[in-house]
Amino acid sequence: MFENLNEKLERSFKMLKGQGRITEINIAETLKEVRRALLDADVNYKIAKTFTETVKEKALGQDVLSAVKPGEMMVKIVHDELAGLMGGKSVDINMQGNPTVILIAGLQGSGKTTFSGKLAKHLKTKKAKNPLLVAGDVYRPAAIDQLKVLGEQINVPVYTEEGSKEPVKIAKAAIKYAKEKGHNLVIVDTAGRLAIDEEMMNEIAAVKEAVSPHEILFVVDSMTGQDAVNTAKEFNDRLDFDGVVLTKLDGDTRGGAALSIRSVVNKPIKFVGTGEKLDALDVFYPERMADRILGMGDIVSLVERAQEQFDAEQARQLQKKLAKNQFSFNDFLSQIQQIKKMGNLKDLAGMIPGMGKALKDIDIDDDAFKHIEAIIHSMTPLEREDPAVLNGTRRKRIADGSGTNIQEVNRLIKQFDETRKMMRMVSQGKNMGRMMGNMR
Ligand code: GDP
Repeated sequence: MFENLNEKLERSFKMLKGQGRITEINIAETLKEVRRALLDADVNYKIAKTFTETVKEKALGQDVLSAVKPGEMMVKIVHDELAGLMGGKSVDINMQGNPTVILIAGLQGSGKTTFSGKLAKHLKTKKAKNPLLVAGDVYRPAAIDQLKVLGEQINVPVYTEEGSKEPVKIAKAAIKYAKEKGHNLVIVDTAGRLAIDEEMMNEIAAVKEAVSPHEILFVVDSMTGQDAVNTAKEFNDRLDFDGVVLTKLDGDTRGGAALSIRSVVNKPIKFVGTGEKLDALDVFYPERMADRILGMGDIVSLVERAQEQFDAEQARQLQKKLAKNQFSFNDFLSQIQQIKKMGNLKDLAGMIPGMGKALKDIDIDDDAFKHIEAIIHSMTPLEREDPAVLNGTRRKRIADGSGTNIQEVNRLIKQFDETRKMMRMVSQGKNMGRMMGNMR
């Protein structure tokens, strides 16, 4: 899900690559792209506009750290804003009362009945509740049977009144029944219509009035895009619900609803449905959703960092040296320093172009290079440029100077020789991975 939005946002961040700092001018195009991506994902126009304005303000107000590239900074700002737009932190449902009464509302086909079953299962397994499901959708005969089937699957009883057309009475009787039978949770599925109509609203409002639910959850199909937002608004005006359930996020949805609903009705999204099966239910976490929308921004920025460090000019220089067999300990050292500059080696390992495979199975930690660096630092300039002069006396001096021992020095020199040989053979000297592998 959210693939469209991901790709578009990623593309817009790439436009900032290579820029030294964020300015009004170089950010303008990126912001335009961000806004377009949001609109394409069915995010309400006003929200997209406010969103980009806030991002712009935050981006321009940032102290520009030289270590952080504008692209990365934008990913972070957009990520935080997205999470904020969706409510910031996750909000639990109210589980007070005995029994706790939860009313489920929404249009027909939104996934109310399925969600009622999912929620019963979730609270039964995660919170050790003893739920009772109530078939309050009295107009669609199949709805009652559907709930019964779901109840059987999860071993939760379903309260029904065959032939009754009075949801208020059913709901009240169900709560009485729950008390008698020791159910500490009652989930009331209600009737939906294909579109908002007055009669339906009156009916749900009457049920609300009659049973004073502890929690009213509004279920909405995320695939309905902008309509989902309008429906949410109408239900909220009438019911003042407590939370939103976004269903069908597994489908080909553009995800805009998740972003808009919170801002329009100012009610938190509490659950998302991600499939037809009863365990396809997730608690909603704004941060995680923002991660998902941005397609793991961390990785995007790591890759960018890696690409910047291994810039083309440097690679060309290195290649020339390799071709002439001039690759020295100084180059070796500067390669190590380049790699270290990029940050955590484990995180970076698989992401450096051409290195991924070679490093995949090697356990690298950030200290891995410490001894190697110390040894090279203890060499004289001549020794670094022309390792052939490294006789026994020199090696002993280097070992002492670097606080290592002669074996380590010998090993490094041997590895260096092998690396040099191998690098000459590797066509165009591009395969840094094998050099790294050899250093271990
Ligand atoms: P209701 O009329 O609101 O009670 O809706 P239903 O619970 O009957 O759901 C309508 C259809 O959507 C059914 O075919 C469900 O299997 C399907 N459905 C419900 N939730 C999800 C979901 O999260 N993902 C997918 N893919 N389908 C869902």
